[in-house]
Amino acid sequence: MSSQSSIPWFDDFMGVAYRFYDLRMNVIPLISDRKQSASLWHDTIHWWVDPSIKIRFVETGDKYWFIMGSDSQKPDTNLSFFKVLQKSENYERFKKGHGGEAYLRLGVYAKKLLGDVKKNARCNCGHEAKDHDEGDNDECLYNSCDCKKFSSFQVNLLKRKKMITDIAFLEEKDVKNDPLTWNCLNVNKYSKLK
Ligand SMILES: [Zn+2]
Ligand SMILES: [Zn+2]
Repeated sequence: MSSQSSIPWFDDFMGVAYRFYDLRMNVIPLISDRKQSASLWHDTIHWWVDPSIKIRFVETGDKYWFIMGSDSQKPDTNLSFFKVLQKSENYERFKKGHGGEAYLRLGVYAKKLLGDVKKNARCNCGHEAKDHDEGDNDECLYNSCDCKKFSSFQVNLLKRKKMITDIAFLEEKDVKNDPLTWNCLNVNKYSKLK
């Protein structure tokens, strides 16, 4: 097995979704491009040794670091993932409800505009498509809402999955004891503060 510190850090993905699906919480890194998601799976995640997959969360204010890595049967193309993300309801739900295990799947993130969706599709403002003006300017018709343009997204889940059983929420003061997290913050945060 290769040492943790030689594995490159990868953050070229859009975020992480948390969904209850197939009897377990699913942790779903969101990729904007189907081809990229296929090659990430094929070259990297497919080779991960399931019991060694780790995900770590480190909160700082209203944001958190998502950190994921694993031993690989093909160390040459291994990557570790990280992203600094905004806390969300789904994140909090995952934190409370994961029960020590989750499925890892990739999701392809597709942005949807008003013309692409059904009337009951929900906009990021929280209101449905039918509550948005269908004129040139598809602003939300709720008086109290300042949404100026319908936008929503759809996540297409890839079928293949891995099992994660090593999940930890850490405080920044404790990361020194966790090699994956320590390496991530060292490379991607502390070494850039100078
Ligand atoms: Zn809206
Ligand atoms: Zn609205």
